[in-house]
Amino acid sequence: MSTRTTPRKPVTAPVLQVHRPADGTVLAELPMTTAAQVHEKVEALRVAQPAWEALGVAGRARHLENLRDWLLDNQERMLGLMQAEAGKPRADAMIELGWMGDIVNTMAAGSPKWLADRHVRPHLPLLATRRFTVVRRPFPVVGVIGPWNFPTVLCAGDGIPALFAGAVVLLKPSEITPLACAEVVRAWREDIGAPPVLDVAIGLGEVGAALVDAVDFVHFTGSVRTGMLVAERAAKTVTPVSLELGGKDPFVVLRDSNIARAANCAVFSGLANNGQVCVSTERIYVEAPIYDEFVARVVANVRALRRGTDGPHIGVELGAMTSAAQIGIVEDHVREAISKGARVLTGGSRVERAGNWFEPTVLVDVDHSMKVMVEETFGPVLPIMKVADAEEAIRLANDSEFGLSATVFSGDVKRGEQVARRIEAGSVNVNDYGSTTTCLDVPMGGWKKSGIGSRAGSTAVTKYTRTQAIASPRVPTLDTEAWWFPYSPLKQGVVEWGLRLLNARGLRRLGLRRDLAVDGR
Ligand code: NAD
Repeated sequence: MSTRTTPRKPVTAPVLQVHRPADGTVLAELPMTTAAQVHEKVEALRVAQPAWEALGVAGRARHLENLRDWLLDNQERMLGLMQAEAGKPRADAMIELGWMGDIVNTMAAGSPKWLADRHVRPHLPLLATRRFTVVRRPFPVVGVIGPWNFPTVLCAGDGIPALFAGAVVLLKPSEITPLACAEVVRAWREDIGAPPVLDVAIGLGEVGAALVDAVDFVHFTGSVRTGMLVAERAAKTVTPVSLELGGKDPFVVLRDSNIARAANCAVFSGLANNGQVCVSTERIYVEAPIYDEFVARVVANVRALRRGTDGPHIGVELGAMTSAAQIGIVEDHVREAISKGARVLTGGSRVERAGNWFEPTVLVDVDHSMKVMVEETFGPVLPIMKVADAEEAIRLANDSEFGLSATVFSGDVKRGEQVARRIEAGSVNVNDYGSTTTCLDVPMGGWKKSGIGSRAGSTAVTKYTRTQAIASPRVPTLDTEAWWFPYSPLKQGVVEWGLRLLNARGLRRLGLRRDLAVDGR
């Protein structure tokens, strides 16, 4: 029998093109990971996990500190890559790299305490002969799915606490900005020579979906819409998720505020990284008596901003927008607001040049019938609304399906804190912006549709672990225990009396005043 063989075409992986937001040209082409390869990568990581966990916190910290040092040693190249793929100016890229190093240091300092065994003294005297220990063990394989706005720190950076916890990690960076994240993983495996406990999957949403199916815990940062899909998919395998989702952060300016500081802060908090920060100021409420002066200062500040591309030396405040699709959303929000009566005081349009550029924009005469005040814009737009008093500002600030973060300005810090406690958000800064995000010692997480869980503080690490309660005898054991089989009237009497003694308070303990016990007084 003759066999005819047709020459096989080499199987070529689909290619992902990464564009420079600054001019739209192709920056790189990467082979995409298939769903089958996602599962293979997870299985390979799973094999490496027990040895990684067995290293202990100090052993794991050594490799992660090597990564921190590598980032510092390769700072110029990494910042260049981050700027090129995300369109960021130098200053915004520097924040991301600095944040990575701080994550390593903060987690290295806290993890020994957060992951330590906890010995618990039982409150029941009956159990005094047992030793109770609560042990933390990692979810073996953690998947981290990241967005494009801080593509390195919110993907590779969010994997660092999981590695501290003893988990192994598969990263899935955004398809718009995968390069710096992939470079971190390459360095981990090739330059640092760390164990093969960190890998990366490149591709579109379906690669993220395959990761959700394969891992034991999913940490997701991105839009509410995708976050809901991730949670729904993870529920099918009862896989826990933490979700860091979108926001519509309010900025409240009370009449006794330092107006100059409030205006400077509003412009920075709304326009840093082109407004593409989950905790960007997205809507501003100003008490009527100071409204005109505040608006005038904001407009002047925005007009003074420099826009463009800079290289290794800071030269501009605003770069390109990272995602071409996001410009469509920004344009839609601005146009719809104008059609409903909003006025543009500066900016308002896409810049007609190659790449993703939108003018920093200030809108007034806005209200909550407009998308720009209720949906996430995620772009360089500052809509400002005049309010009668603090009560109206608080009511409007809370009139949102989001609850990520907020800012409150007041001349009286105590009053600012009181207002902060009434805002429905996971973090609030008084007379300030970003301190809660920068301080990795406090949790950062969203309320309402802004998410589940948090990324900083001790939970940054402990959320990647499961607790295991272990009970063991403190004294030599007998052949049986009094409450094991067989039951008897004597045991019943002892148990009933014992329970009464334990649970009841006052005279009920002794079985007296049953009349009170019965009618519940
Ligand atoms: P996105 O939801 O479009 O994508 C996020 C990631 O999910 C990408 O890697 C994408 O490939 C992946 N993905 C897409 N479909 C998927 C699916 N079905 N299953 C699994 N993964 C899938 O978000 P984005 O546009 O990249 O990021 C912007 C959003 O992220 C904004 O809403 C912003 O507020 C939010 N964000 C939140 C935080 C926070 O800490 N709360 C931080 C940064 C960004």
